Amino acid sequence: MTFVISGDCCSDASCVAVCPMNSIHPAPGEPGFGTGASLFVDPRTCIDCGACADICPVDAAKPADRSAPADVERNAAYFADREPLEATDLDTWEPVSYQVWGGGPRRVLVVGAGPAGMYATRELLLRTTAEITVVDRSEHLGGLVRFGVAPDHPQTKQIIDTFERLVRHPRVHWRPRTDAAALRSGGGRGSDGRGLPDGYDAVVHAIGARRSRRLGIAGEDTACTAENFVAWYNGRPDAPPPPALVGPGAVVVGNGNVALDIARLLLSDEEQLRRTDLVPDVRRTLAASGIKKVVLLGRRGPDQAAYTEPALRELLAVAGDRVELRYQARPTAWTSAGLTLDSGEVIAAGNLFTAIGFEGRPVDGLPFDAERGIVPNVRGAVVGRPGHYVAGWIKRGARGGIGVNKACAQETVMTLVSSSRGAASPGS
Ligand SMILES: Cc1cc2nc3c(=O)[nH]c(=O)nc-3n(C[C@H](O)[C@H](O)[C@H](O)COP(=O)(O)OP(=O)(O)OC[C@H]3O[C@@H](n4cnc5c(N)ncnc54)[C@H](O)[C@@H]3O)c2cc1C
Ligand code: SF4
Ligand code: SF4
Repeated sequence: MTFVISGDCCSDASCVAVCPMNSIHPAPGEPGFGTGASLFVDPRTCIDCGACADICPVDAAKPADRSAPADVERNAAYFADREPLEATDLDTWEPVSYQVWGGGPRRVLVVGAGPAGMYATRELLLRTTAEITVVDRSEHLGGLVRFGVAPDHPQTKQIIDTFERLVRHPRVHWRPRTDAAALRSGGGRGSDGRGLPDGYDAVVHAIGARRSRRLGIAGEDTACTAENFVAWYNGRPDAPPPPALVGPGAVVVGNGNVALDIARLLLSDEEQLRRTDLVPDVRRTLAASGIKKVVLLGRRGPDQAAYTEPALRELLAVAGDRVELRYQARPTAWTSAGLTLDSGEVIAAGNLFTAIGFEGRPVDGLPFDAERGIVPNVRGAVVGRPGHYVAGWIKRGARGGIGVNKACAQETVMTLVSSSRGAASPGS
């Protein structure tokens, strides 16, 4: 699927700024902007992240399967004779909208190579003359796009290719398999005493928030968290194996898109699984699970459910009546008999999956807001720690898809540039 823009578009270009794939045209500055009736989505590069729909003030950006066939055709026709644009092609980027941070080389450390870290890197390349070191404790970049996004959504994972282009830029130094803690050990204090690793003028912490929230019920330790299950089915090297999958029933607690991803993969048949990029072992285990029915449990009503409509339609298309949606349900205990609800009812099931959201962990040396699971910040600047910035889920909390991190990282880099302008850099 792809997103499509309808004739209701008023061309304010809000969506252009948040599109992580540079898929929306004509953008400001391109021929045709402001003269045509609407903007268009390039179906060849759209990764279906929904950021354009979230920001559109007139509900003109919609999934193709909710759009009029004429709008789908108009979007496709606009690009028929045009080459697809690379999302990281400098020539296609919007002109600089705030002052470039010049005055000689600076060194910026970006911790985390997920969407927020990579968009921060892109912004730093565009707005500054800095040398940028990007570290990630994983050997791969992409963060949750690689190890979170479901393997039957290969189109969404395409964005990793554009991130890989960024780390090949001559001003970017990519250091995989490097935990930020290693840079802080052995002193790691800047000469100004601000707690910056040696040699860096600023650090952008973009470490995400991948730890699953807990339900807080008896028996929960034998359930499988979304963090572990999605890491396993995406082949994250350090992911623990899931508990044995026991059919015929399973319960997934949670009402967001991640809960729906889990239910969809559990109920996909062998044929459907073969069309994904699952590693063979995972595919075999899922196909042989014997899970025939999934109960999806939400604590609130359907109106408050956090999943998106396209994700629900996709699940229903795969699962049909093998998925049961239950709302206003509160689990109290998990045993081998199943999941007990506060009403006393027991839902018989062999496996329990919890997908009730994610939270960040404290970063050594930085303040932490345990309630929200974030590092407290003002437009990305860490409160009380000059030189330290945050972007992505550790800045805003674990909400929002890939595209939202683009605008989020832009804001952080704008703050960094504004507060750093004119500052002398040690060693520069
Ligand atoms: C299961 C799941 C499925 C999703 N599916 C979709 C989808 O289909 N479409 C969509 O638009 N959005 C999806 N999202 C949301 C999207 O993945 C997030 O918006 C996005 O990944 C957040 O970006 P981030 O950079 O803040 O964090 P992350 O993607 O988590 O990146 C953080 C990076 O920091 C690294 N790191 C952490 N700690 C350290 C350290 N101490 N030292 C060095 N490196 C460190 C991690 O290894 C990681 O690479 C999904 C999220 C989840 C959880
Ligand atoms: S914002 Fe996301 S869904 Fe919208 S056009 Fe861009 S890539 Fe596609
Ligand atoms: S945000 Fe909506 S109205 Fe504005 S240009 Fe994009 S599609 Fe059109």
